[in-house]
Amino acid sequence: MKKILYIDLDNTLVNVQSGIDRLTNAEYRRYEKRLDEVPGIFARMEPISGAIAAFQTLAQSFDTYILSMAPWGNASAWQHKLEWVQEHLGAGTNGPAYKRLILSHHKHLNRGDFLVDDGSAVGADRFEGELIKFLTPKFPDWNTVTRYLLERADTPPGPVPRTKQKSRSLRSIGLQAVTCPAR
Ligand SMILES: [Mg+2]
Repeated sequence: MKKILYIDLDNTLVNVQSGIDRLTNAEYRRYEKRLDEVPGIFARMEPISGAIAAFQTLAQSFDTYILSMAPWGNASAWQHKLEWVQEHLGAGTNGPAYKRLILSHHKHLNRGDFLVDDGSAVGADRFEGELIKFLTPKFPDWNTVTRYLLERADTPPGPVPRTKQKSRSLRSIGLQAVTCPAR
């Protein structure tokens, strides 16, 4: 079974500053100190460098979910977070984040093995698994995080041929693998 991995959105997958940079002067003045409440701000944000490729890679080896908080005072952020995920990770059933977006103010209630998050608010610091603190000296970027996580995955990346899996599990319980002719 794959280990459960949660990944935060803001400043982990999403470059929040890129949305702030696109605000008009009037918006900036009106919402100063509560910029996450600007209507539509999340729709203007770009992914963090390497985040999309990392998510796609990690989703092959982990049971991967997005776990993010959306501001209570900005209803459009709830919609725009979903739209951001659909735009950058795909909206269809084949997308690695299909129906895997969790918006919560209580991250500690989600059980799992790893949480990649730049912050410790809304329960991240009480997460029962390992908190991988993004944008810190130990985990400064997605290359570092991806390497660290893949070393701890139960499932290697990429498809494993069925016959190989079978003979490995037989050997592991002390039985000899029997190869059946293809039909
Ligand atoms: Mg964050």
